[in-house]
Amino acid sequence: MSVLISSCLLGIGCRYDGSHSRVEEIIKKAQEMHLIPICPEQLGGLPTPRAPSSIVKGDGKAVVAGHAKVINSLGEDVTGAFMKGARETLKLAKIAGAEKAILKSNSPSCGLNTPYCETDTGYGLGVTAALLLSAGIEVIEIDPEGKVRI
Ligand code: SF4
Repeated sequence: MSVLISSCLLGIGCRYDGSHSRVEEIIKKAQEMHLIPICPEQLGGLPTPRAPSSIVKGDGKAVVAGHAKVINSLGEDVTGAFMKGARETLKLAKIAGAEKAILKSNSPSCGLNTPYCETDTGYGLGVTAALLLSAGIEVIEIDPEGKVRI
């Protein structure tokens, strides 16, 4: 079974500051799984490094519904790039028949409980996580700082 994975979890330097979030447990399992690395922010056309972004007036679910925007630290509206990255990621999932995605926590793209949004709880879905979930893809969130089980 093919599984999407946030590229930064594999050690690829695609984070906003050019760093990665490599998780050794995932690297050890990488040979046993058919992993499809994705970085929605790069797939959306954003450069690396890039200004970090937050979702305003909602979370990723609201962005997908057209009710919220993604704004970077320079004040630029990058909603279009975030949505393009989410759609391209979903396209890859469909091409590969992937029904599961292992995504990095906290990200406004990949997180399931990102703090980089505006909700009543202070946490919400990232844009790509929201689009994948709406398409019926299971999303597992990995916190590189926490205990990892995959
Ligand atoms: S969390 Fe997602 S969008 Fe951010 S660098 Fe990793 S793969 Fe790219």
